[in-house]
Formats: sequence, structure tokens, C-alpha cells
Amino acid sequence: MAISDHVDLDQFMDGVKRRNPGETEFQQAVYEVAVDIFDYIADKEIYHEAQILRRIAEPDRVVSFRVCWEDDNHNVRVQRGYRVQNNNAIGPYKGGLRFHKSVNQSILKFLAFEQTFKNSLTGLPMGGAKGGSDFNPKGKSDSEIMRFCQSFMTELYRHVGEDTDVPAGDIGVGAREIGYMFGQYKRITNRYVGVLTGKGIEWGGSLVRKEATGYGVVYFLEDMLRHAGEGLEGKVMTVSGSGNVAVHAAEKALQLGARVVTLSDSEGFIHDPDGFTREKLEWVKRHKGHRRGRISAYAEEFKGASFHEGERPWRVPCDLACPCATQNEVHADDARLLAKNGLKAMAEGANMPATNDAVKVLREAGVLFGPAKAANAGGVAVSGLEMAQNSTRIAMREDELQSLLRDIMQGIHGRCLEHAQGPDGYVDYAKGANIAGFKKVADAMLAFGIV
Ligand code: GLU
Repeated sequence: MAISDHVDLDQFMDGVKRRNPGETEFQQAVYEVAVDIFDYIADKEIYHEAQILRRIAEPDRVVSFRVCWEDDNHNVRVQRGYRVQNNNAIGPYKGGLRFHKSVNQSILKFLAFEQTFKNSLTGLPMGGAKGGSDFNPKGKSDSEIMRFCQSFMTELYRHVGEDTDVPAGDIGVGAREIGYMFGQYKRITNRYVGVLTGKGIEWGGSLVRKEATGYGVVYFLEDMLRHAGEGLEGKVMTVSGSGNVAVHAAEKALQLGARVVTLSDSEGFIHDPDGFTREKLEWVKRHKGHRRGRISAYAEEFKGASFHEGERPWRVPCDLACPCATQNEVHADDARLLAKNGLKAMAEGANMPATNDAVKVLREAGVLFGPAKAANAGGVAVSGLEMAQNSTRIAMREDELQSLLRDIMQGIHGRCLEHAQGPDGYVDYAKGANIAGFKKVADAMLAFGIV
């Protein structure tokens, strides 16, 4: 009898905790997947024997490196850079780079692990990775950002490549940072290839990439509601965050007839009971984008809106909620309040914004829940299309890309549904996403033998 026959979920998690001490976000992400996978593979000996889950939960490689740069006052600064290459069973490593003061190995390992399942769900050939640095872009000048990005790429370039590992943006990394990093990659290697996605349209980027994550989240929400016999029209929606994902989720929800009433940043949230209009969202994009302002200014700009310092939007009654800020921003208490106030569905725009306890509360209350690895996969999916365009040296039209994004999100919804049947007819999308994402990666790994 194989040793693995004796390992139950608790023993598996004990091992994960022992091997990854103090990495609470990583342990949380692995547990969330392991619960469903243990159930699914209970009668599938082959996955046990090959220790597939144990192998997916052990990154192929974690690279960590020093990043030195000089600030505007000529002080030498030292940051830590990382690339976590989690799994490349179904394609080159793929996943964003995060620049934020909270970044550490645990957060990047959780993100790379999640990315593996997310990328699998898109149906495109992409493995899972994530990287970044504890560099804090807040308050930095443009030249400081440039020097940091160049220094970061001076080490990263040896670990990435268009057929090896293709990073993109995430929190703190947008078109400006991708530009500086791509410029440095090209300069060091003298190769013009699709080594990064999220590039500017003029230099190899893809139309629709910027909008893709936020639009995709709302498409997933639309598909969940439609499956339940409902629609977005007339629904009140809360959104957290005010970055790229949040504003585009709000924009698409508005186009599809919902009333979006909140946005937030690390200082608090704004509530506009009348709902955002196109013009108001354009103002937010300008204010948060080039001007890099705070969301509190919205309440000064628009009558009827209020700013709530130090709070998240979850006490505002709504039918739909889209957490688009960061991990662990919806706790069990928030979920209880949201459910009590009549929440029908939540779709995660950020990665793992809801804690495992919060998801449990929503599930018990019968609230539909679209997990990040399914709901926010539109971004990386269009990154996959950017890679395809770069490889073939063509640029696709906007209408083609928009309709491909819609189809891909529908495909993800369908893949989740195949494994989403919970007790009492509840459609458990979290479980469906875990199993569908796992199966493709696991079967590829079986084909490769013990590697
Ligand atoms: N950072 C995004 C995500 O969490 C996008 C990754 C990519 O485009 O590679 O999926």
C-alpha cells in the first residue's frame, strides 16, 4: 500500500505548515484548494500515488534576490525581489509582479499557487508564477520608479523568457513599470520578444488587456446570475479598491445596468448612493491614474457622496459585491453582514480577498460566490492572447479581443459548473474552480512521470 493512502487532509496540512513555517497566506491558499481536492480524489488512486497535490503545493522554484537602487537624495536603498515559479505543467510560467510594502515570500507563494489553477481554468497553455518586491511605490518619483524597475529587471531577466516565464503587472505594477522593465530587458538581451504582458499598445501590448480583469469579473457575475435565473439590471453593487480592476469592474457593471455605489483605497471608502456614471468613473481613472491621488477626493468633487475613513465598504447594503482591493479584505463578520443585508452574489476581483471563514459564511447563507481563480482570470487570459499576438507578430482587433474575452469567461463558468454541485442544490463555484483547475494540471503532470 502506498504511503499516501494514509495521509488525510489534516496530516497533509500539518506537512504543509511544517515545511512552510509562518507562511500563513500560503497555508490558507493551499488549505482552500486541498479541502475540495481531497474530496475529489478520494476514489482516484492515481492522483494519490503520484502525490500530485503535494507536488503542486511545492513551487518548482523560488528565486529571491537583492535589488539595490539609489533614491533622489542619493541614498542607497536595498529591496528584496522574488520570482516564484510554481508549476509549468501546461505551459510557460505566467503571472504578475507585485510591488507593495507587504510583499513577502508567503504572499507570492500563495499568489503563484492560485495562479496555477487560474491559468489552467482559462483553457490557455500557461503555467503559474508570481513575483515582485517589498518596494513601496507610494510617494516615489518617476525616476525612482524607473531606477528601481531597471535594477529589478537586471536580475530578473536571467529567470524569464517568452517560452520560459512571462511576468505581467499586479498591485503597484502597471503600464509605466512594465515599460521600464521591458526597456531594460530589451537593452540587456538585445531581443524584442513577448517576455512581459501588459505592454503599451505601441510596443507589443494587446488591446483590451487593461480592461480585461475588471470586465471579466462582471461577465463571471453575469453568468452566475443568469444560471440562477437572474440578471445584473437594476442591482446595487459594492466594489472595493480603485485601481485598474475596480474601475473596470464598475464600468462594465454600469454598462450592464447595475448601480455601483462604492470604491475604496487603503485610507477608506467612498459611498455614492446615486451610483457612478461614466463621467464620474472617468474622473476616478484620471485622479487615481496619472495624478495618483486618494479616493477621498471623490467626496469633495461629487455632491451626495461621502468618505468613510479607515473602513471597507461591506456595511453598505447591496445585491452584489466585488472585492477588488487585496487579499483578506472580507472577513466572516463582513460576510455575515453582507448576507443579512441581502447579498445575492460576490465575485472576487482581487486575489483571495475573502478569508476561508468568510467564504464558508457565504456558502451557508446560499450566496453565490465566484472565487478569484475563476472570476478574475480574464486579465491573465488576455495576457495569454497578448503572448499569442507577440509570437505570431500580429495585432488583433479590439472587437475580436472583446468577444474572445467574453467567450473565455463563459468557458471558465462552464468548466466550474461541471464540478460545482454542492449539497442542497447550491452551486459551489469555489469547489468547481478548484477541481477543474486541478484536473488539467494534474493530468499533464501524470503524463510527465515523476519529475
Ligand atoms: N496579476 C494578474 C493576476 O492576478 C495578471 C497576471 C498576468 O496577466 O500574467 O492574474
